Amino acid sequence: MSFSSKKFPHVALEADFCVVGGGMAGLVASIAAARHGVSVVLMHDRPVLGGNASSECRIHICGADRHNQIPNMRETGILEEIRLENLRCNPNRNYSVWDLVLYDMVQRTKNLKILLNCSCIDAVMNNDLIKSVSGWQTTTQTHYTVRAKIFADCSGDSVLATLTGAKHRMGREGRNETGETIAPKKADSGTMGMTCLFQARNFGTPQTFESPEWAYKYLRDEDLPYGGRGHSHGGWWGLGYWWVELGGMHHAIHDTELMRRELLKIVLGVWDHIKNQGDHGAESWGLEWLQFLPGKRESRRYIGDYVLTQQDIEQGGNFADTVAYGGWTMDDHHPAGFEAVKIGAPPTIFHLAPSPYGIPYRSLYSCNVGNLMFAGRNVSVTHVALSSTRVMGTCISMAQAMGTAVAMAVNHSLTPREISVHISELQQTLLLDDCYLPRIPQKFSSLTTEAKLKVSNSVDPEPVRDGWNRPIGDVSHAWTAQLGDSIAYLFDKPSHLTEVRLLLDTAMDKDLALSLHYKDHGMTHIPEETPRKFRIDVMQDGEWNEFRLMDNNYQRQVCIFVGKVVEGVRYTLIETYGAKSSRVYGFFVR
Ligand SMILES: Cc1cc2nc3c(=O)[nH]c(=O)nc-3n(C[C@H](O)[C@H](O)[C@H](O)COP(=O)(O)OP(=O)(O)OC[C@H]3O[C@@H](n4cnc5c(N)ncnc54)[C@H](O)[C@@H]3O)c2cc1C
Repeated sequence: MSFSSKKFPHVALEADFCVVGGGMAGLVASIAAARHGVSVVLMHDRPVLGGNASSECRIHICGADRHNQIPNMRETGILEEIRLENLRCNPNRNYSVWDLVLYDMVQRTKNLKILLNCSCIDAVMNNDLIKSVSGWQTTTQTHYTVRAKIFADCSGDSVLATLTGAKHRMGREGRNETGETIAPKKADSGTMGMTCLFQARNFGTPQTFESPEWAYKYLRDEDLPYGGRGHSHGGWWGLGYWWVELGGMHHAIHDTELMRRELLKIVLGVWDHIKNQGDHGAESWGLEWLQFLPGKRESRRYIGDYVLTQQDIEQGGNFADTVAYGGWTMDDHHPAGFEAVKIGAPPTIFHLAPSPYGIPYRSLYSCNVGNLMFAGRNVSVTHVALSSTRVMGTCISMAQAMGTAVAMAVNHSLTPREISVHISELQQTLLLDDCYLPRIPQKFSSLTTEAKLKVSNSVDPEPVRDGWNRPIGDVSHAWTAQLGDSIAYLFDKPSHLTEVRLLLDTAMDKDLALSLHYKDHGMTHIPEETPRKFRIDVMQDGEWNEFRLMDNNYQRQVCIFVGKVVEGVRYTLIETYGAKSSRVYGFFVR
């Protein structure tokens, strides 16, 4: 790397895997890879993690359950863990505490080093492979170079596309090209725009607001998208508004600062409208926060070995290499965004999509740069498909798959593309780590499948090893325990038990997402059904002995290392967070 100035310090790092961009996708990909034993450097240009979900943007994470409209379909794995951690320590739904939850996850992850405030600005290639990437850390005035075996671009804007020559695309495909009925007739450069939100609070006393003279003025409700109904929410202004959106007809990257200036003029104009143009019942409401960093929806999308389309989504994404899933509707924002109202077009159109649909592994690695992967809004999908896959729950599902695939590739000295041959191993690893994959059941060790299952009550225990770890349709796929009930595996001979994994009840039918979008929306405590206290016993010489008493549990997935020769293992429910019964979705041993 030839830096123009050698006057600043330069630090060289080496890792197995380097991730650029610490939004939710980059964060989860990094944690997944590090947990599977590879060394990871995460280079992120902001002081806080989470991208659009961070306190800098405050966008709530949606996914295949569509705010719980499709119960039991939310993303589990690392996202579930983060959400439960957040419920435990952030009952007031504070976004700085959420930032801390994400930062703490990274601090607790072995093998993972983060470079915050460090913007990736260069890459060095060796033929079709990336040798290293470089970044500039503003807080320390230091250049960093990271050499790695595999790189992931989770920057949203795909900074590595420009730096490496990886094939990518920006704008909307034409209907004539893809056959997508939602696509415009011919390809164009339109994208879904960016947004600045605001947060307001009811202070209980009269609050005045004086808009800067450079802000826009909206005198009538009809001047705003969706008229009066779009900004009233029944007299509540907690967080507004996704339709303050621009940039889809500009360059989604190079025009960002220009768009931010315009967006702030609009946001302040909207707030002025609510406060000062007619009675909107907002007298005691005051501004609490303004988003100065525009949140983006779309810019460059990489081209992988497969490009997911509208038709794939509509047909349920039935791929042999499904490693992730989505389920949000195809929510195709008009490129004109806020200005769409002026041309009589709706700011967005929701097109039906099934939930869940599968997403193939081949959409997560570059078709021409041999060691480049991606997850997030920049994966290999068409514009139409992105209108569904862009929600963060889906980005995270792809990210856990990508990070896990990287670990497999590093551990077996394979390229990302070569992992396709080992797809079943990748799928089973993801299922073991509590990810959900539509139509792909979990397979178990013979220790699990050959053992006898015994329970203290009369409820059928077999669902804990039926391969499906959440309710699907009308089937609960769980064993239900009352307080004091137990479930045990009995082995036909003393066997070495490495670990026990449990998938416990964290109310799959409820919404655990942190959100400021709705009044009193979302939970602020660990679900009542979740086991707080339980015991794991092991049988040796025909006797049950306590192996571990788990107190203050709040997680769905619990892995307990045993490392002993035993004749059986037993789980006993002692206490929940309030409910009289609690389900066990998975109980496996190996
Ligand atoms: C207003 C708005 C509303 C939305 N509503 C929802 C919603 O309700 N629910 C939902 O789930 N999704 C929603 N989305 C979509 C969703 O937020 C994005 O698609 C999602 O954030 C993409 O995740 P990501 O990790 O790929 O990117 P980002 O969240 O954009 O994260 C990428 C990170 O990479 C960093 N980065 C960029 N360049 C560099 C570089 N050169 N070096 C180092 N780091 C870099 C950025 O700072 C950023 O933090 C919304 C988007 C917007 C704008």
